[in-house]
Amino acid sequence: MSLLESAQDLRDELVQLRHSLHTTPEVGLHLPITQEKVLAALDGLPLEISTGESLSSVTAVLRGGRPGPSVLLRGDMDALPVAERNGLPYISSHEGRMHACGHDLHTSMLAGAAHLLAARREELAGDVVFMFQPGEEGYEGARFMIDEGVLDAAGSRVVAAYGMHVVSAMLPPGVFSSRGGPIMAAADTLNVHVIGRGGHGSTPQRAQDPIPAACEMVTALQTLVTRAFDVFDPVVVTVGSFHAGTVDNVIPDDARFSATIRTFSKGSRARIKQRAVQLVEGIGAAHGLRVEASFGMGYPVTVNTPDEASFAGETIDGLFGPGRFFVAPQPVTGSEDFSYVLEDVPGAFVFLGACPPDRDPADAPYNHSPEALFDDAVLPDGAALYASLALSRLSPSGTAGTR
Ligand SMILES: [Zn+2]
Ligand SMILES: [Zn+2]
Repeated sequence: MSLLESAQDLRDELVQLRHSLHTTPEVGLHLPITQEKVLAALDGLPLEISTGESLSSVTAVLRGGRPGPSVLLRGDMDALPVAERNGLPYISSHEGRMHACGHDLHTSMLAGAAHLLAARREELAGDVVFMFQPGEEGYEGARFMIDEGVLDAAGSRVVAAYGMHVVSAMLPPGVFSSRGGPIMAAADTLNVHVIGRGGHGSTPQRAQDPIPAACEMVTALQTLVTRAFDVFDPVVVTVGSFHAGTVDNVIPDDARFSATIRTFSKGSRARIKQRAVQLVEGIGAAHGLRVEASFGMGYPVTVNTPDEASFAGETIDGLFGPGRFFVAPQPVTGSEDFSYVLEDVPGAFVFLGACPPDRDPADAPYNHSPEALFDDAVLPDGAALYASLALSRLSPSGTAGTR
């Protein structure tokens, strides 16, 4: 039986697991119910299983029938603080929590891959590390798992790591996409506190008004983006929060704003960190105001190893035939903590279109929306791709062997 046929045979189990996970979404680093369901789904397989200490992760190692290096497959498991609104029969039973980013599909597909690979264990020339990760959505779960040794779980450092992400829009259903180099942005935060001296709105000369200066900073940040950065190495600055004052005739003591900053290279990231802080401090100083500015580092840029991204594309073409993979023309402006894994080892991150057939991917609600829907139909294909990436990468005669 081909790998795809075996994956289709697993379809009902994968759908059942995904629906079960979907009804009990958990947020953050501690996902006890999810962890239990994953352990149950892996029960009986010839895996070496360990669970996390600082988070409820599951790491499973499958030993291949022949010696060789090890590769890592990663699926994240956490949900979001979103109140689900889509009328699914298996809608979230946890109020205010929803698998709105499709991580329930990742978990189910990775469990499916464990079944597929366990059945093909003798074909594997090396070991496979399955990384079931909590806390992707802002909790740095991947970094915690790296600190606890996931990259060396098989006894030596994995030679490659692969992650997958479903999207409820933008990509046609069943279509995979990736690219070499940056695939997702770094997401950092600029926090600014402008401190002046309050007073009567009618006599600004007797006060130190922080509001016009803070407004100037907001617009100057946009100018900075266009003047200090290469247009082909883009930077996104969005001030999403701005607070100052109470009523029209009182000058407040201070103003605060914060911005999300997205970059696609280490160079631009380091540069905006330095230049943005310098800019707001300079504007404050020019107006005689004190400024406290800090740059909070979020997830780094997710950078695919070019060879591994090409290998993933070839694997998809080989498994599903032509027309199922395309090279993404540009990165996505979202961010991912799989970036930490790819900072340490080669690998690739791949997107998979999971828009239901009755919706238009061009305008369907996207990941994180309370109305996002992900189609179960992609589950067997996702599981098959995970498995195929490991099989091919560890195959001495396959593409990977010639690298
Ligand atoms: Zn997300
Ligand atoms: Zn996600």
